[in-house]
Amino acid sequence: MRALVKAKSEPGLWMEHVPVPEIGPNDVLIKIKKTAICGTDVHIYNWDEWAQKTVPVPMVTGHEFVGEIADLGRAVTQYKVGQRVSGEGHIVCGHCRNCRAGRGHLCRNTQGVGVNRPGSFADYLAIPQNNVVPIPDDVPDEIAAIFDPLGNAVHTALSFHVVGEDVLVTGAGPIGIMGALVAQSVGARKVVITDINPVRLELARKLGVRYVVDTSREKLKDIMPTIGMTEGFDVGLEMSGAAPAFRDMIDTMNNGGKIAILGIAPTGFEIDWNKVIFKMLHLKGIYGREMFETWYKMIALVQGPLDVSGLITHRIGIDDFQAGFDAMRNGSAGKVVMDW
Ligand code: NAD
Ligand code: ZN
Repeated sequence: MRALVKAKSEPGLWMEHVPVPEIGPNDVLIKIKKTAICGTDVHIYNWDEWAQKTVPVPMVTGHEFVGEIADLGRAVTQYKVGQRVSGEGHIVCGHCRNCRAGRGHLCRNTQGVGVNRPGSFADYLAIPQNNVVPIPDDVPDEIAAIFDPLGNAVHTALSFHVVGEDVLVTGAGPIGIMGALVAQSVGARKVVITDINPVRLELARKLGVRYVVDTSREKLKDIMPTIGMTEGFDVGLEMSGAAPAFRDMIDTMNNGGKIAILGIAPTGFEIDWNKVIFKMLHLKGIYGREMFETWYKMIALVQGPLDVSGLITHRIGIDDFQAGFDAMRNGSAGKVVMDW
């Protein structure tokens, strides 16, 4: 089968022919229809420090996908060949304390599809049946193909109560924009998104995020009174991985504010911890999606008030994958969805 492989320890990805994955008794084989490019795939493409120490070479990459079940392991009884599915890309062990307590997203032994085991940039993907998520008929393929990052956004945005609260989202990348739209659609009061890239801010505005601030030109603190904010933000969603954005957030939170942190920042960056203490802030790190609560909530949201289709800026065939990666690498893309 065709697969986009990290074949060499150097920047790039290569289209190769590799064997179709074998399935064990509890696995499901999925014929991939659409896959989307994640920031993680860009790290792997660029072959940065994180990728070099995390990804064994050769590796079939990719983990955002939708497809149809092509084959079932002999112990799989609840799914059918031909069924339309996506799936959770974090494979958990099932036997650690958190897994046994039903908190799979906190598993200590998580393996990543397309990172530590073969991924979805391929004609076929094999995952355990527990990771399969059936897709309802009214959810389009291209939306199901971006459920992985949408799940990151939903997990982060719903980590704290946001109904009637003022919410700051730092970073208008695809996940930040989705997080802002989730907060708006469930009833947050003011939702403000910041970025320093005008293309990203324009996309946020176009998709309906109500307050958009370019922090390379304006100070967030100066904008707040102009939109009727006299105190501070109640909830922060850190989606940039940028230290200055996180510092802005700590400065503009109200006392007792709650911050969910998804953005992956450089190690060792500084913040003023005394502000965290004297403002009595709550900080919570977010990794992946809650298994499988996030998936239920996300599917209900896209069947209801949430429309993220405008975030897909590039729809291309897999043969043009290089153009898709170029757009992701130069920051001109929202989501890139590739057809197999
Ligand atoms: P992205 O890189 O596309 O978006 C980040 C955005 O932050 C960019 O638009 C960038 O211009 C903006 N930014 C940079 N400096 C800023 C500043 N000073 N103020 C405001 N914005 C600033 O990333 P994404 O795909 O949307 O993902 C968001 C973050 O979440 C990334 O850091 C990513 O690595 C991380 N992530 C974490 C998990 C997890 O499980 N924890 C999963 C997926 C992604
Ligand atoms: Zn576990």
